[in-house]
Amino acid sequence: MSESPLARESYRGLSAAEFFYRNREIAGFSNPVRALYQTVRELVENSLDATELHGILPDLKVFIELGDKPDRVKVRVEDNGVGIPYDEIPNVFGRVFYGSKYVIKQSRGVFGLGIKMAVLYAQITTGTPIYVMSATPYSPVIAEYKLMIDISKNRPIILHERLRRKNRKWHGTIVELTIEGNWPQARRRVEEYIRRTAIITPYANIYFKSPDSELIFKRLTKVMPPPPKEAKPHPYGVDVEMLKMLIRSADKSLTLKDFISSTFEGVGEGIASNFMKWCKLNPYKKLSKLTLDDIVKLAKFMKEYPNWRRPRPLSLSPIGEDLLRRGIKEILGAEYVAAVTRKPSSYGGNPFVVEVALAWGGKIQPSDKPLLFRFANKIPLLYDEGADVSRKVIDNLDWSNYKVKFPAPLAVLVHVCSTKLPFKGVGKEAIADIPEIEKEISNALKECGRRLKAHITMVEKIHEKARRKVHFSKYIGEVARALSEITGLPSEKFADKLLKILSEELGEEVKVSEVH
Ligand code: ADP
Ligand code: MG
Repeated sequence: MSESPLARESYRGLSAAEFFYRNREIAGFSNPVRALYQTVRELVENSLDATELHGILPDLKVFIELGDKPDRVKVRVEDNGVGIPYDEIPNVFGRVFYGSKYVIKQSRGVFGLGIKMAVLYAQITTGTPIYVMSATPYSPVIAEYKLMIDISKNRPIILHERLRRKNRKWHGTIVELTIEGNWPQARRRVEEYIRRTAIITPYANIYFKSPDSELIFKRLTKVMPPPPKEAKPHPYGVDVEMLKMLIRSADKSLTLKDFISSTFEGVGEGIASNFMKWCKLNPYKKLSKLTLDDIVKLAKFMKEYPNWRRPRPLSLSPIGEDLLRRGIKEILGAEYVAAVTRKPSSYGGNPFVVEVALAWGGKIQPSDKPLLFRFANKIPLLYDEGADVSRKVIDNLDWSNYKVKFPAPLAVLVHVCSTKLPFKGVGKEAIADIPEIEKEISNALKECGRRLKAHITMVEKIHEKARRKVHFSKYIGEVARALSEITGLPSEKFADKLLKILSEELGEEVKVSEVH
């Protein structure tokens, strides 16, 4: 009997793991090329977070090996980071939306998703588990696991577990995965990703070995930007649910005013009092007595109050003009670099900092529009450039104002860091055009542009002088001979004098490569 079209539908829930199993392309795992790139990314980014967020100078090793079957690729990343407590390892690698970065401070990871996507992809395509070895600095043991994910329950499956006594001081994490990947086609992007990671983390040692290449990036400096600090939420960024959560975890005997002065970023006694006067809610009402209506009103007033302080940037960790310049000079081999770290700004209660560098000349090949190197919270972004706010700002800039005529040997580096980056997708490849961010990028570009223009002008002058010197010196011999004939004095004498005059007038020849 055929089923009636009006038969009852069958209903069930979908676990987070199953959702991403079905929709893996939205996290960057769409095909064997992209998935290999994304796997390297997730592993490297976790390793960098595990080191520099904790003040450890990163030592990273990345290995890509071809597997025993065609299209199988093994990715292994080793770090010297803080490691993971052994009892957290199964969840950290086997439960979608589980992690340590759900706090307000800048980090590469945000969703608690990335590594699980790689684990899912490995298990779907090659049926193999992730191998993890990790130790925290103070733990007496080293833990080893082999894990998979129970997709329908969103829970880790422990296939192997071993704790060993630690007999050396090692701390860090080693992760290994075998996925279906296309190394020959992913190679260029993966290597470029590693190179750009080295540019933005010049204080890291990065060793990369693949079937066709070995890249070694030695740290250029031991100076690391201070690690970001955890911030409180900013009042502009709250909503009803967030307020409910904050109230739930607060001491219920607090008054509304004390709650506000102790919970939010940049709010002390004075500002809390002023706000309470302005919004006309009862400042002495106890949290336990607040109604839903009070909370809805409070959320609205907090968003509207015009006198909150800007969020402070302590939760951010830009790399700074000096490190930016060093990384670029060394790795791009530019003749000249102008770098600018803008003052902190904010959008919707989230602090952010924009850093921009213009790299000019040297080993940079001329191109019809500026090469763009995008970074978000120190993550190199290689895909979806056309959708990114930086591309838009760069394309809208009138480069002729800065004496740049295309084709030109120009590369632009844009780094945006924030406690909440407006990514266009969970694959984290493009930043949305938030007006405040757009403006900061534009201002930073213009500031660098003015410096580049001064540099180009200076180089032009030097070239012009050199050209005139060459031009005039062609005639020196002839003039000196003529003078010698008229006066009967030796022509060398005239030639020497004339050269001296020319040098005084046009200056000594300066090599362009010496000018910075
Ligand atoms: P996210 O990086 O967004 O938090 P992931 O799924 O990539 O999400 O990682 C989950 C958690 O696993 C991280 O928050 C971190 O606590 C931990 N983790 C992953 N890799 C490492 C590593 N190499 N060293 C230390 N901790 C790690
Ligand atoms: Mg991550």
